[in-house]
Amino acid sequence: MISGKKTVEMLDVIDSMFPDAEAELNHDNTFELTIAVLLSAQATDNHVNKVTKSLFKKYKTPEDYVAVPLEEVQDDIRTIGLFRNKAKNIQKLCRDLIDKFDGVVPDNYEDLVSLAGVGRKTANVVLSVAFDVPRIAVDTHVERVSKRLGIARYKDNVTQVEETLMKKIPEDRWSKAHHQLIFFGRYHCLARTPKCETCPLLDDCREGQKRMKRKLKEEK
Ligand code: SF4
Repeated sequence: MISGKKTVEMLDVIDSMFPDAEAELNHDNTFELTIAVLLSAQATDNHVNKVTKSLFKKYKTPEDYVAVPLEEVQDDIRTIGLFRNKAKNIQKLCRDLIDKFDGVVPDNYEDLVSLAGVGRKTANVVLSVAFDVPRIAVDTHVERVSKRLGIARYKDNVTQVEETLMKKIPEDRWSKAHHQLIFFGRYHCLARTPKCETCPLLDDCREGQKRMKRKLKEEK
């Protein structure tokens, strides 16, 4: 694995590529953000934004979601993967918010992960984006990029990747780094077609070097 110093150097390069990286899930308040992040599991932010455009017009509060039958919420998010489970979780989460938190999304990790459908990643995104708490949420892009660059080990699970990133990146950069690693993975170091040939990190990237060697061999 690469050192913390090298990690920060790489992050500086990514920072110059994506200085304005930020959450791409549309929302007007913390409650909408929480619903959007919950919907985003195994779905693209673009797709979630399409669905929430009408969803957030119809449902403004936790009470609105529990006032209709489950089937109606399912219908309203039907185009999103795992919609049955997600609709169930949305109603459970709203019920919990009403019963335990006066209808307000809590601002701490323990309470957040006690809500239906809210795991470590969702809680970290909500804390970071809505409450400005320094966090690094590890989604598929953050995990892939961290492993390809050698910041984390290929065999690490998401919690280990998160811990490693927090160790190697200064705390005041966590939230920004989280968005920048997502942008880098989403628009540059893509899962199937990473842009290694034009990548400013190629010289130091173990995955990129491997891919370029393979490509040269194939061309011979
Ligand atoms: Fe990703 Fe390739 Fe750049 Fe490595 S060299 S970070 S694999 S795009």
